[in-house]
Amino acid sequence: ELHNLVMDLRGNIRVFCRVRPPLESELDRLMCNWIYHDEATVELQSLDAQAKNKMGQQLFSFDQVFHPNSNQNSIFEMVAPLIQSALDGYNICIFAYGQTGSGKTYTMDGVPDNVGVIPRTVDLLFDSIKNYRNLGWEYDIKATFLEIYNEVLYDLLSNEQKEMEIRMAKNCNKNEIYVSNITEETVTDPNQLRQLMQLAKMNRATASTVGNERSSRSHAVTKLELIGRHVEKQEVSVGSINLVDLAGSESPKTSIRMTETKNINRSLSELTNVILALLQKQDHIPYRNSKLTHLLMPALGGNSKTLMFINVSPFQDCFQESVKSLRFAASVN
Ligand code: ADP
Ligand code: MG
Repeated sequence: ELHNLVMDLRGNIRVFCRVRPPLESELDRLMCNWIYHDEATVELQSLDAQAKNKMGQQLFSFDQVFHPNSNQNSIFEMVAPLIQSALDGYNICIFAYGQTGSGKTYTMDGVPDNVGVIPRTVDLLFDSIKNYRNLGWEYDIKATFLEIYNEVLYDLLSNEQKEMEIRMAKNCNKNEIYVSNITEETVTDPNQLRQLMQLAKMNRATASTVGNERSSRSHAVTKLELIGRHVEKQEVSVGSINLVDLAGSESPKTSIRMTETKNINRSLSELTNVILALLQKQDHIPYRNSKLTHLLMPALGGNSKTLMFINVSPFQDCFQESVKSLRFAASVN
């Protein structure tokens, strides 16, 4: 089971759990009992004795558990070393996994007066690049933004309808994957990058019209490719930062959009399968079973570092989904 496996994992995959606080408007909602044993272990108790008996003891271990009072800053402290690694040539991948409303977007984007991982990454990235410049390194940053919905790719920097495919670059090592027809912007300053992010966010929101919760049913992938060159030595460093706000992990309440639901659940379980296969050091990693894992192939396994946030809601009525998320890999297959 994944929550046992992660314990001996001091390697390239880290799993963090984050429990969100209730909002002001939710203070009358019943909460489960959350017991924080230590910085890496959390116990979840249902208020419903029957559910509690049926599900047994719910004790989960992660690389780190963030309780509801944890702030965005303390979370980013754990992320910052990965950004450095990307400048040193690693492909890094940061995911937010959890049911809709559990705090994935809060963790990745944050809110204007309390920004999350992505805006903090932008700041740190440009600060670090400034420091690296003193050591003779110059960086180019290439940014792409895409959405994967129902196993189809959408360019978040363009409103054009176009065919986009995941391709493998010719004459390159097998990890060179690119998306055909995608808008790729070369970024030179932080404000430009922030504007692109804003545009991508707007385009994603526009695509998700009322009555169609596409944005909670799609994966949003922000990719920053970092190409470094040393001005004197002939050295080159190519790394990337992939930031992924995943589709909600909840079980569907209705079967109206069956194909869609099936695809979404499938791509989340394929992601889980890939991560499990990597953790178990299997020979065959099933990257090609979904668009998401195929796209992220270079950033999962090999010369890469992966961080997965498991976001959970604190409420009693979310108990089942929370347990599923906390056990996320174990519950698949
Ligand atoms: P998701 O993206 O998983 O659907 P959101 O990030 O939109 O969930 O979170 C749901 C609501 O809870 C939002 O209003 C968000 O601002 C708020 N929220 C989530 N996590 C936190 C947190 N750690 N602290 C304060 N508010 C949070
Ligand atoms: Mg969201």
